[in-house]
Amino acid sequence: MRCRILSEVLYRKWRPGTLTDLVGQDHISKTLRNAVDSDRVSHAYLFCGPRGTGKTSTARILAKAINCESPNEGEPDNVCSQCEDINSARALDLIEIDGASNRRIADIRELSEKIHYSPTNAKKKVYIIDEVHMLTQEAFNALLKTLEEPPAHAVLILATTDVQKVPATIVSRCQRFDFKRISIDSISDKLQLLCNSEKVTISSEALDLIARKSTGSLRDAENFLEQAIVSFGSEITLDNLLEFFNIDDNQFPIQIIIKIVESDLKAALTLLADSYQDGKDADQILLNMIEISRTLILVKSKAISEKDLGESVWDSLSSVAAKLEMSDLVNMAKVLSDAQKQHSVTPTFPIEVAIADIFTTLMTDSGTEVKTKTIVESPKTKIEPKHVTPTSGSSLPTTPTAKPVLKESDKNPEKPEPVISNSPLVNSADDTTISTTYGSTGDLDSKWNDILKSLRKTGSRFNLAALLRGCHGKGINGDSIVLKFKHVSHMERLKTELDNPTVSAELNKVIQDMLAKEYKIQIELLDDNRNDNQSPSQKSHLVKTVQALGGRIVEERGK
Ligand SMILES: [Zn+2]
Repeated sequence: MRCRILSEVLYRKWRPGTLTDLVGQDHISKTLRNAVDSDRVSHAYLFCGPRGTGKTSTARILAKAINCESPNEGEPDNVCSQCEDINSARALDLIEIDGASNRRIADIRELSEKIHYSPTNAKKKVYIIDEVHMLTQEAFNALLKTLEEPPAHAVLILATTDVQKVPATIVSRCQRFDFKRISIDSISDKLQLLCNSEKVTISSEALDLIARKSTGSLRDAENFLEQAIVSFGSEITLDNLLEFFNIDDNQFPIQIIIKIVESDLKAALTLLADSYQDGKDADQILLNMIEISRTLILVKSKAISEKDLGESVWDSLSSVAAKLEMSDLVNMAKVLSDAQKQHSVTPTFPIEVAIADIFTTLMTDSGTEVKTKTIVESPKTKIEPKHVTPTSGSSLPTTPTAKPVLKESDKNPEKPEPVISNSPLVNSADDTTISTTYGSTGDLDSKWNDILKSLRKTGSRFNLAALLRGCHGKGINGDSIVLKFKHVSHMERLKTELDNPTVSAELNKVIQDMLAKEYKIQIELLDDNRNDNQSPSQKSHLVKTVQALGGRIVEERGK
């Protein structure tokens, strides 16, 4: 309860009293002051912009300025009875309507009728309709009639966070103001003033952190500050706020991504497992990772700076971004977003596969075989088919009732899901590179490296040279070049690339230049991996990714 009382007190104390007090919307406050001062107030205004940027506050100050008994240069004096009535929320001629809860035609009809009655004791009757985009189509039609013939004594102020949903006929009859997100500097300055008035000591780093966290909304920033004052008293440190915002929760997903980039798949999966065991929510972990992948793209493209992220997060993310190509970051963001749509008995399973997928792509792109520290260190055990190795120790998170084996009841009988042994994720010591040639090779072997070199910059989503380097056998068969792949995922990626006519044409040209002859490209799986009777489930994205890591299908249920 104490929190609520404080909230009310601070709200009154902190809200802006004049147009000049508005933070970060100088262009709007200046235009409105001039309008009031020169007695050219419009009949209808439309305030658009993100939440917390001051739309409703501006509307109330404008109402005061319009009705103030002795306004000064377009500003309300805040002492006359009109101003006092509005400040204490008992003005009869200021009517506030919440568009979200009064969206029906009956509500707007009532407005259309009552707006014609003269003001009770003020110069003008001011209506504020908040979240106006929520009105129904019929209600908009009724509102339009009022806007077409507004009584001289009325001013309508419409506010919305989503102007796209407001009919153009309404927008065109209003004077429109677009409220901007408030800059971090402006929010910090305002918070500093509030802290001074509350006799609260707070460091500038702490203020910046609140400002960044509130993403341009002064209202959010003030709420954060208020909660911080309630929680920590009159001395607030950066450490307090790091605790308050659970910044640790953002740090460990960054660590997972750093481990992937450092080619340490085991560490990445173990970090995930440990944090899940510690009680962190799998969905939240994934959301954090998606947000980080988005931030990495912004960092790489220099769309944000250190100021936006804070020093420590900036240092971690900019070093990751420097090591990766933009295409890698885009792929990471896509793979993580896709994982959000997957569901599994083991909540962390989609994240594990996403981590493995990003890892595999990075390894393939850099031309390195999929060999992690894990694989090198792991004992050389051979995994027998038909044998599901139990999940090993803490390297993969499990709950007593949940195993990464899909339950019979969970699957769609039309689409049998394979049982995937996840042990190859950390145990594929027998995965060695085979380089075999098929048929006569002619100049193919001697020119192969030159061909790859010429294709270094070719590819739409993946780098073609890197994909070709992943082929495990090549040869010439008549007028075809046969490329054999050990992993379905590598083969599928190459096929997808060659479906792109530009990529395919470039490959053909390079081959013709190098080998002085035209060849068709034939892509196959290595004979021992080929399975012409692949079921649909074996072609799924998840299965291919696990296969790309050396996992294999040991049993398929539902047949
Ligand atoms: Zn006044």
